[in-house]
Amino acid sequence: MIPRLIAPCGMNCEICLGFQRLKNPCPGCRGDNTAKPGYCQKCIIANCAELNKIQPGFCYDCPKYSCKRLKQLDQRYRTKYGMSMIENLESIKTKGLVHFSNNETERWRCRNCGEQLCVHRPFCLKCKTPSK
Ligand code: SF4
Ligand code: SF4
Ligand SMILES: [Zn+2]
Repeated sequence: MIPRLIAPCGMNCEICLGFQRLKNPCPGCRGDNTAKPGYCQKCIIANCAELNKIQPGFCYDCPKYSCKRLKQLDQRYRTKYGMSMIENLESIKTKGLVHFSNNETERWRCRNCGEQLCVHRPFCLKCKTPSK
């Protein structure tokens, strides 16, 4: 797990389908913007003006934390994918990036083949074992 792949919103880009796909993989939120899929190029959090004041930090450093846009993203991911950006941020804030990264590596490991899981799919992309 590479900490630079943790987005300011708390998203772990390493478990994203965009990052894991073989064709034109996304470099992650903190990577080159032109290489990201359109929806992440236009992301209202990644493009938030407040982020320039806290670079290269996380939303929890922002005086507006947790703002409506972050809460909406968090709600969508909790409902659809069983993952919370705000929980991720709180974990990074209180326990640090190394602890969070190690925890994420274990949390998203396929129990059958050991491959990294994808948050956007309910099964392992490699061996197809259900992950949720
Ligand atoms: S598509 Fe978005 S969430 Fe996924 S890896 Fe790229 S920047 Fe991160
Ligand atoms: S908490 Fe909200 S306002 Fe603050 S940097 Fe994050 S997205 Fe922007
Ligand atoms: Zn697997």
